[in-house]
Amino acid sequence: LKIQYYVLNDIVAEVVEMARQHSNRLIKIEGGNNIIEVKTDYNRLKQILLNLIDNAVKYSPANQPITLSIFRQGSEVIIQICDRGYGIPLQHQSRIFERFYRVDEARNRAGGTGLGLSIVKTLVEQMGGNISVRSKQGEGSTFTVSLPV
Ligand code: ATP
Ligand code: MG
Repeated sequence: LKIQYYVLNDIVAEVVEMARQHSNRLIKIEGGNNIIEVKTDYNRLKQILLNLIDNAVKYSPANQPITLSIFRQGSEVIIQICDRGYGIPLQHQSRIFERFYRVDEARNRAGGTGLGLSIVKTLVEQMGGNISVRSKQGEGSTFTVSLPV
């Protein structure tokens, strides 16, 4: 556990570069024009982002882009991971952060244990932040992480 000041833009750029090489997908960064400083635990933040990008990759078609947006909003930094994938039916959205919970159809498309998002939520909350999802079946999903600066 090493909490110190980082430039969020650098962490995001590094993680996105890893994910691009690993997945061969188009992953874009938006809002990186302004330097955003965060006091954070580098490893936890990296794990959060890698999990969310991994999901965006797994649950969207290979020809669709994934976008990470970062911006400041009051005393928070907001990180959004947006995909144009299969989406999550409304009735499942409140449960995907539970351990081992997977939306049925996802099983056919890609493997997984259903633990990723529960770990992400725990990490985000340990950092004093919040995570939420907006999604529409057949259109895509946006996960929003807010962290205190
Ligand atoms: P693991 O992350 O442990 O490898 P997983 O991806 O199935 O497995 P979670 O990351 O916890 O588990 O996600 C839970 C479920 O939420 C997924 O199985 C999938 O049904 C749904 N889900 C998560 N992210 C997305 C997304 N971006 N688009 C559509 N469905 C998603
Ligand atoms: Mg996952």
